[in-house]
Amino acid sequence: MKSSTGILTIDLSAIEANWRTINNQLSGKTSAAAVIKANAYGLGAAYVGPTLYQAGCREFFVATLEEAMAARQYLKPDARVYVLGGVRPGAERLFLRNHLSPVLFSLEDIRRWLAYTQEWDSSPPCAIKINTGMNRLGLDIQEWSALLASGEELQSLRPALIMSHLACADEPEHPLNSYQLIQFQALVSVSRQLLPEARFSLANSSGIYLGPAWHFDLVRPGAALYGVNPQPLEPSPVKPVLRLALPILQIRQLSEDASIGYGATVTVSPPARLAVVAGGYADGLHRTIGRQGFGMIGHHHVPVVGRISMDTTIFDVSTASADKDSVIHVLNNELTVDRWTVLTGALGYDILTSLGNRYQRCYVKNGTRVEQGALYE
Ligand SMILES: *Cc1c(COP(=O)(O)O)cnc(C)c1O
Repeated sequence: MKSSTGILTIDLSAIEANWRTINNQLSGKTSAAAVIKANAYGLGAAYVGPTLYQAGCREFFVATLEEAMAARQYLKPDARVYVLGGVRPGAERLFLRNHLSPVLFSLEDIRRWLAYTQEWDSSPPCAIKINTGMNRLGLDIQEWSALLASGEELQSLRPALIMSHLACADEPEHPLNSYQLIQFQALVSVSRQLLPEARFSLANSSGIYLGPAWHFDLVRPGAALYGVNPQPLEPSPVKPVLRLALPILQIRQLSEDASIGYGATVTVSPPARLAVVAGGYADGLHRTIGRQGFGMIGHHHVPVVGRISMDTTIFDVSTASADKDSVIHVLNNELTVDRWTVLTGALGYDILTSLGNRYQRCYVKNGTRVEQGALYE
């Protein structure tokens, strides 16, 4: 049976290679966790998680309790799972039962978690997030200083990880990078005495490439693992991970001038040939290729014509040899997520997480297709 949707191929070997590339940036005292929130940025956490576990990763970050419970199903029990969205009131028991590590970001959260876990013999390690300049989630530095000064609560809590997050790491020259670094270094030095066992973490993917000073004990890459260039002004150190092939549903050979698609925004003249493919804005193509985008048939570029619809997109294939068995690629090793970012301005993060759930997904490792059950072999 011919596929009625696009086929999205996810190269797990490329993700593994990107994991190694990132680890090669680190000195022996720094380890890497993997950020697999939002279903591993849309690529499929149930495949990406085990692949990274097999490659040596033992610490994972997700955003929500639901994502963490799912991770417990596909990761081995010794993997540590941090929940960036913290522990909501009433969810404490589920964290304990599933051995999930909350990232605590307010005094109230810290006190509630402490009160709850004190009744238990052992509880999962927790992280504390501190705001050094992004002003999203996190304790303010003054709150942290007050906690350190009183000492007792932190000594009972014994957080395993103290972390902060960079706001502008993909812009190496941005002054906020060194400002946040200095804030964090100061915080490390005042915290070490009270919390000698705690580890410290500041860098996401781009932060890693700001240099070793940003690495501390643990780095937290997400996007770079999935092929997004962490240093957009330089050649990418990571490999593309995705291929997206859209099947042609119909070819229309024009015999007179015709307006194309919703809104009749463009008129095309004969002898143009147009191909209508499966895949539209519900599949994230508005993010990927934008309105002025193009696809590839073999090495041939074919432009998008008119508006992208919910389920279909129209390409002008006049100059390519295309028939109903052809596919049009909009992601491959040449048309990468990074290339689309340059062409359309859409962030790699947004392109990946917009891919949607309709594609037929094909996971490959060492060039051959793998099923989820085989990932730990
Ligand atoms: C999403 C996220 C990351 C990963 O960021 P990338 O830019 O994708 O590497 C790291 N840390 C925190 C706190 C995050 O929210």
